[in-house]
Amino acid sequence: MSRSVLVTGGNRGLGLAIARALAADGDKVAVTRRTGPAPEGLLVVDCDVTDPESVERAYKQVEAEHGQVEVLVANAGIARDGLAMAMSDEQFDQVLQTNLNAAFRVARRAIRPMLAARSGRLVFVSSVNALRGSAGQANYAAAKAGLIGMARSLARELGSRGITANVVAPGYARTDMTAGLSEDYLAQITAQVPLARLADPEDVAQAVRFLASDAAGYITGAVLPVDGGLGMGH
Ligand code: NDP
Repeated sequence: MSRSVLVTGGNRGLGLAIARALAADGDKVAVTRRTGPAPEGLLVVDCDVTDPESVERAYKQVEAEHGQVEVLVANAGIARDGLAMAMSDEQFDQVLQTNLNAAFRVARRAIRPMLAARSGRLVFVSSVNALRGSAGQANYAAAKAGLIGMARSLARELGSRGITANVVAPGYARTDMTAGLSEDYLAQITAQVPLARLADPEDVAQAVRFLASDAAGYITGAVLPVDGGLGMGH
């Protein structure tokens, strides 16, 4: 398809699987990197999504090398888990800043050129825990739920210009983010999943690939669960 695609946090984990799936379709895929690895075969742009200047620099680089971003996947995210009574303001704020505020920042930067082109795809990576809640994740679930209201607002603002805004809500997958969870905990989660396994990064990649595709041209404001049934549809 050869569209210009930007995947934030696309240098590892779910984001890398998404980036690879879109690149395999022929898209020109750029990924951001803040501290982690720089995968080969993709345009890697240094970017901390919580820093507005860094986001602007990254966009300029992508635009210079691949043209205006036509598909944005806002995937970069962190977790700073802890029970609410012991959660610091900083711990709450860090997660909101990265998972919600920065997703807005990167989306806002993508919108103007998409409006001019009268087409575009915005995909936000939320979580099954956005609407299900999760003990120890008041910050994370709040940010991930916020993405849904934000995406639906963008869907309403931008729909008449051919721009769609959708959300994927993955279940638990084995990545660096979940590496600290015990096998016991993951087994408990798996026991609640109707499809009886954790998510594979490829499951998430294929859902994003669909929402970014022409086949999803009449879908906007949707939340697509990729969770084996754990959240039962939201
Ligand atoms: P990882 O921890 O494996 O990767 C996180 C990614 O986000 C990295 O690419 C990291 O970049 C990037 N990132 C974090 N903070 C910033 C920042 N300030 N600026 C730029 N990039 C940043 O996480 P996953 O792959 O597991 O998660 C990807 C997304 O999927 C997240 O939004 C997460 O919340 C969501 N998700 C994950 C689930 C799971 O079970 N794994 C389940 C549901 C949702 P760098 O390497 O440079 O630090």
